[in-house]
Amino acid sequence: MSSSEAPAQETSTDQRYHRLEVTAVIEETHDSKSIVFNIPEDKKAKFAYLPGQFLTLKVPYDGKQLTRCYSLASSPHRDSEHKVTIKRVVDGRISNWINDYVKAGDQIEVMTPAGLFCLNDKTPAGDIVLFGGGSGITPVFSILKSALETTDRKIKLIYANRDDRSVIFKDELKAIAAEHIDRLEVVHILDSVHGFLTQPMVCQLMDGYRHGEYFICGPGPFMDTVESALIGLGEPEDRIHTERFVSPPDPDQAEAVVQQAKAAAESSNTVQFEAVLDGETYEIPYEKGDTLLEALYKAELEPPASCEEGMCGACMCTVERGETQLAQNDVLSDKELEKGWTLACQARPLSNDVKVKFPD
Ligand SMILES: Cc1cc2nc3c(=O)[nH]c(=O)nc-3n(C[C@H](O)[C@H](O)[C@H](O)COP(=O)(O)OP(=O)(O)OC[C@H]3O[C@@H](n4cnc5c(N)ncnc54)[C@H](O)[C@@H]3O)c2cc1C
Repeated sequence: MSSSEAPAQETSTDQRYHRLEVTAVIEETHDSKSIVFNIPEDKKAKFAYLPGQFLTLKVPYDGKQLTRCYSLASSPHRDSEHKVTIKRVVDGRISNWINDYVKAGDQIEVMTPAGLFCLNDKTPAGDIVLFGGGSGITPVFSILKSALETTDRKIKLIYANRDDRSVIFKDELKAIAAEHIDRLEVVHILDSVHGFLTQPMVCQLMDGYRHGEYFICGPGPFMDTVESALIGLGEPEDRIHTERFVSPPDPDQAEAVVQQAKAAAESSNTVQFEAVLDGETYEIPYEKGDTLLEALYKAELEPPASCEEGMCGACMCTVERGETQLAQNDVLSDKELEKGWTLACQARPLSNDVKVKFPD
């Protein structure tokens, strides 16, 4: 299929994907569009989501099946529809293809919601400060709306954009801010007016907000600036949540990485490993070549997982003991790797004493 044709109509053979109909396409700004999906009654439970989670879309493009994650900008507590918003990336294949060609009535292969960058009932109390840069507004907007509906926490949104016409959800935000004048503060930073956000600006904007919870999503340098400023202010790292918008490698590139990792694991003679899941410890038999996730599935366990391609982070777990080999990784930062995080869908044990633990 060429890049300019309509989305796939055939049924996917991949059970993780569901063919969903696009019910509306909304022009948000000159370079971004939202698409709204119809979730049939029998799929509603599967597509239930937490604010901040994302959908993975699979699009046939120039003979390849390319997968891309898009955060749900809708809130499960305020909006009835599932809406994702896609901003054009210069020379990007799928973002431009969606903006150019997708229309109401089209069908797209979509994976059920996933992701750990979200507001949930394990989230600590305190103020919430949200930092969104460009299209990075999508998950934080969902979190903002849900936090207003389900908590009484004070919320501040710092939203950076190139210029005024690039501000996605401008009117909706204005209306919500007017509804919640007592506990929602929205600050717009425009590159064209204020320049790029700097650490001193972040520190100044944090005036009156401390010991809260922080959600950051946007371009890499924006996120690094905010994170460094918050750490500099003494905010604990476990209260700083980040979501990085990246594309996974094309399937052929990903396969090469997996083959390399498999070859490296070939010399290991691991026959079992230990896994802590939902607080229970299991001894998992291991067959050569399998990832941790595949071995857990064979043991009939149900660990959290979604894309199984190393890009969503749904199967993140920590290596508590032993040695493992990680293949594809588009989600864990160097810091997270240093702390022992790995991806069950991409990791293979290299020694017989491996113990991994999934978050409670
Ligand atoms: C969890 C998550 C949530 C996300 N949520 C959103 C969201 O809500 N909204 C949103 O807009 N985006 C979101 N993204 C980003 C999105 O998934 C894509 O990365 C983005 O749309 C760009 O995809 P693309 O196919 O257009 O670009 P790509 O084709 O992947 O290109 C990306 C860059 O690589 C270069 N490139 C072009 N062709 C090639 C090639 N053949 N091989 C290699 N590189 C190439 C391009 O110059 C471009 O700069 C999210 C990402 C993640 C991981």
